[in-house]
Amino acid sequence: MQATERQYQNYIGGKWADAATDGVNDNSNPADTGEALGRFPRSAREDVQRAVDAATTAYTSWRRSSATDRAAILDRAATIMERRADEIGRALTLEEGKTIAEGVGETKRGASILKFFAGEPWRPTGETYNSANPNTFLYTERVPLGVVGVITPWNFPVAIPIWKLAPLLAYGNVAIFKPAELTPLTAHLITEVFEEAGLPAGVLNLVHGPGSVVGNEIARNPGIHGITFTGSTSVGRELYAIASARGARVQLELGGKNPVVVAADAKIEQAVEIVLSGAMKSTGQKCTATSRVIVEQPIEGAFTEALVERVKSIKVGPGIDTASYMGPLVSASAEKTVLDYIDIGKNEGARLLTGGEKLANDNLGQGYFVAPTVFGDVRPEMRIAQEEIFGPVVGVIRASNLDEAVQIANGVKYGLSAAIITTNIGTAFNFVRSIEAGVVHVNSETAGAEPHVPFGGFKDSSSFSREQGRAAMEFFTQTRTVYFDMPS
Ligand code: NAD
Repeated sequence: MQATERQYQNYIGGKWADAATDGVNDNSNPADTGEALGRFPRSAREDVQRAVDAATTAYTSWRRSSATDRAAILDRAATIMERRADEIGRALTLEEGKTIAEGVGETKRGASILKFFAGEPWRPTGETYNSANPNTFLYTERVPLGVVGVITPWNFPVAIPIWKLAPLLAYGNVAIFKPAELTPLTAHLITEVFEEAGLPAGVLNLVHGPGSVVGNEIARNPGIHGITFTGSTSVGRELYAIASARGARVQLELGGKNPVVVAADAKIEQAVEIVLSGAMKSTGQKCTATSRVIVEQPIEGAFTEALVERVKSIKVGPGIDTASYMGPLVSASAEKTVLDYIDIGKNEGARLLTGGEKLANDNLGQGYFVAPTVFGDVRPEMRIAQEEIFGPVVGVIRASNLDEAVQIANGVKYGLSAAIITTNIGTAFNFVRSIEAGVVHVNSETAGAEPHVPFGGFKDSSSFSREQGRAAMEFFTQTRTVYFDMPS
């Protein structure tokens, strides 16, 4: 892909269309801010209304389309995404910053999700029951919600939109897709994939623009029946209040402060690799990233020393360079937040063991690069141990025993994912049963989700609903109960 000043458009009613405003969002590469990646519309509320009108019209036929048609379109989209994985993955890396292996890997994962949901129109969508009346055939069927708003963050700009859009479409809904302003290019390419796959006009509508306008209009617009949102807890809660007050169904997947507990019997080398990958891949910008390591006291010193050595060896650089293990943060504002939290940690009395600064040496001066950072002597009540930092910063907390470790792990408002590293089955099992998290890993990192199983958090990390796999049906459909009596 060439650096470009190309002006991109919205996609409404099956046509690429200019927005109702002249406002533009200049997209650039966070590894080299001088590299332009195109200009995207800062759409107005009116554009959302146009998309709602197109979607409402398309819904009439899409909800009644055959399983064969829906399955074939999703299957074709999977094939196209697989074929375009290098191109889309590269665009993802250029605009979001993660490494090219992660960018292409995420795109291929998008193709796998589409493949899974291409089978979904063929799976059961209801149950039959015996009735008190022998003449009655009593059954349920899951039917679509209608027009659904899809509001997504920048950190998995392919996988998250796809894991919302694929089930939504499979179950017969139509979509208004509002991607994050930091990653509009991948949203454009995803939409192209569905267009090329032959999705009928109006079934998927892409509206670029700011959350405060386009996202807020999706929350308010009475023509939108459901909203699936992934992003920060504060924005999600605000959106929930607005949309649920008008009776819309809302699904929230929110932030995390994910712990790894390292038991005294853990193999230190294995624990270090698991923490390193969970904390530093994607520059720590995963909702499931590891940000707290709670280590049993007997091995705390040896573990911390080994972790710091390993973190120091990380190669930081532009994601497009295959030698880089870690790319830049996504934006100036993300960089400022992370550097501010590093100052907060130092002021709170945590011990900075490595990293802690902006990197501007070699070719990094034009990007938002921050050194991978480890704090030691972190206490559970510190802000760096309580609040989501969303960057390459991990804090080591000492626990005198496993009960205390679990108590510390549970002592935050979030409950997305958690992991334990141990060689003892009983320790692992007790952890699984007592940890407050929607996703639990034993001897693997906190990040990572397979497409066919439920995904989501406890506490402030979610709104109880689950995404992915067959669990997606619960949000994207509603139940109709049918009492069917034969004519007498
Ligand atoms: P964000 O909340 O700032 O933005 C998310 C989306 O909401 C964007 O599209 C944004 O434009 C839109 N938005 C912003 N203000 C809005 C408003 N007033 N009304 C409606 N929409 C609005 O989050 P972000 O910075 O893009 O993403 C990072 C956050 O996402 C982190 O907190 C991370 O943990 C979370 N996340 C959670 C999961 C999960 O599955 N639980 C996955 C990935 C990211």
